[in-house]
Amino acid sequence: MSQILCPKCGAKTEKLYKNTCRECFLKTFTLAELPLVLHANTCAKCGARFDRNKWRDVGDLDEIVIRTVEDALLIHKEADDVEIYVNPHQMTPHFYKVRVEVDAMVEGESLHQDLRAEVRVIRGACDRCSRMAGGYFEGILQIRATNRLPTAEEIDSCKIICADMVDRLWKKGDRLAFITNSSDSKDGADLYLGSCNACRHICKSISNELGGSFTESATLHSHKEGKDIYRMTYAMRLPEFMSGDIILFKG
Ligand SMILES: [Zn+2]
Ligand SMILES: [Zn+2]
Repeated sequence: MSQILCPKCGAKTEKLYKNTCRECFLKTFTLAELPLVLHANTCAKCGARFDRNKWRDVGDLDEIVIRTVEDALLIHKEADDVEIYVNPHQMTPHFYKVRVEVDAMVEGESLHQDLRAEVRVIRGACDRCSRMAGGYFEGILQIRATNRLPTAEEIDSCKIICADMVDRLWKKGDRLAFITNSSDSKDGADLYLGSCNACRHICKSISNELGGSFTESATLHSHKEGKDIYRMTYAMRLPEFMSGDIILFKG
């Protein structure tokens, strides 16, 4: 078999990798890099993760630690068929030791690298939890009925629809879908919600299940940094006649 000399170390080799022998190539090639210390920003209350300027619901703390490591891991751009195995080990509630194994193909050679990192867990308050705690709301959903008062059962049904919808929207990524407050008024009930998107979805869902229609209106709430801040009111009107009512016609 023909042998070549490595231009770098002079050793005999059968194949050149980036113009050097295999040993010289492996000495200078770094498959993966990982900072020794990483920080995982989480919400102490709901467990969300802060990353790329946004709070997101990722999963449990192990999952957040794995994502934090994967996001910080740099793999050489010439690596193919990359397989990454992240093994998080919780030392304390605030501190993880993580072992990472990377397997990949480079220049037709299968390479393996072990890395280690520490992940420090930082607990704060996310956008959702801090706004909920501060009583924040964007929209008021008024439950009323046309030419009558809504029944207690109807108000309960509306509140259940509201709670279900808020849960569904939160899972879909609307982090401001939450109920801040609810109060019974003499002509129905008022629900205070963190997101207008949630108000609209809830009104549509109530219309589908109980009938009726809703209107949307804005009222000027305050000025902030030269901008007008509006609060939205969603007036849900349940139908005048409930299903099961007998309507008498005068003949
Ligand atoms: Zn060499
Ligand atoms: Zn939170």
